[in-house]
Amino acid sequence: MNKIPFVTKEQIEEIVKTYPTPFHIYDEKGIRENARKLKQAFSWNKGYKEFFAVKATPNPFLMDILREFGCGCDCSSLTELMLSEAMGISGEDIMFSSNDTPAEEFAYAAKLGATINLDDITHISFLEDIVGKLPETISCRYNPGGVFKISNSIMDNPGDSKYGFTTEQMFEGFRILMEKGVKHFGIHAFLASNTVTNEYYPVLAKEMFELAVRLKKETGADIRFINLSGGIGIPYLPDQEENDILAIGEGVRAVYEEVLIPAGMGDVAIYTELGRFMMAPYGHLVTRAIHEKHTHKEYIGCDACAVNLMRPAMYGAYHHITVLGKEKQDCDHRYDITGSLCENNDKFAIDRMLPEVEMGDYLVIHDTGAHGFAMGYNYNGKLKSAELLLKENGEVQLIRRAETPKDYFATFDCFEIYDNFHF
Ligand SMILES: *Cc1c(COP(=O)(O)O)cnc(C)c1O
Repeated sequence: MNKIPFVTKEQIEEIVKTYPTPFHIYDEKGIRENARKLKQAFSWNKGYKEFFAVKATPNPFLMDILREFGCGCDCSSLTELMLSEAMGISGEDIMFSSNDTPAEEFAYAAKLGATINLDDITHISFLEDIVGKLPETISCRYNPGGVFKISNSIMDNPGDSKYGFTTEQMFEGFRILMEKGVKHFGIHAFLASNTVTNEYYPVLAKEMFELAVRLKKETGADIRFINLSGGIGIPYLPDQEENDILAIGEGVRAVYEEVLIPAGMGDVAIYTELGRFMMAPYGHLVTRAIHEKHTHKEYIGCDACAVNLMRPAMYGAYHHITVLGKEKQDCDHRYDITGSLCENNDKFAIDRMLPEVEMGDYLVIHDTGAHGFAMGYNYNGKLKSAELLLKENGEVQLIRRAETPKDYFATFDCFEIYDNFHF
């Protein structure tokens, strides 16, 4: 698959007159088309709902687009809950899937009426101590341990992950929760990340459905929903084949009909908490080449750095790069594409074959729409970029301004001595 940017050089040359690089830009049309397909893929399930994983791209303008398609929010922290509340999202439209949760965050989630997804059996009494009476509906996060396999390939390693209840704890937890008056239940599991196969959700769903049938049989619990969580990936590499969400939906439907319906559980709702799949392909980080350096290797220095996109530095993740206006040229130059941090891992690409990059060229770094801007930080005193939305009508809207030095210094406002500094 050839990765083609959703913006052209001409568009970017217009945009930078108002918004200088670097910035993240999002494609409203792509977000909409994808959200529509997801909804269609699960339309066979009456209670289906996607709770967008806010942590992936916590921007209210983007969350608002998803809201048109019936999406709620999956929150993991106090500020994500506050953001959802500010947007008028509350109650059952919020799934609170946190871990190692501070007491005040549980209290806030309970106040909003969010559905609370417990990460651990000890959180039952921890939550009860905070809220007094437990909510009528509680979800529990499941972690079977071991490795998660599809056919014979290992997808991920839940046995090594900090999340969730063991199988035994799920049964014990449900019994305790029922004794404490909880009436309705959900089951949640997130067992593999960024899967690029149509098999992940169906295999996960089968395991969860079978657990749900056993839980119901042995505890009598009223299981209302099964939350397949996140983990559906995207093809970061140009030769990867993308997931077919309609096939994934049908795959889940097949195991639903095989396992849940015969068990008399045909009214269980399917929930998802996708982040990456909803947004990643519909974001670009746009940056300009400002230096070239010919030493032991060929370097192109750009005006973005790992602060704007951490995945390559953090995971060695591949993000495709297009040199705007040179889409059709041969990739006959080998470069390391770097940012300006005093960290040698601040490289968006290593030994990447690209067309010849000239100073002033605009580079599009692909698939930054999820876990991109959101993972940003301020190392080296670098400031976070703006976020822009390319609307369906071609207009560009600023949906978050760039940070200024004043933002960076704002947390010194407690020191009056610095009143003389006017940042
Ligand atoms: C991160 C996360 C998600 C979203 O994961 P993606 O890989 O972006 O789909 C969903 N649920 C929980 C609990 C998460 O931590």
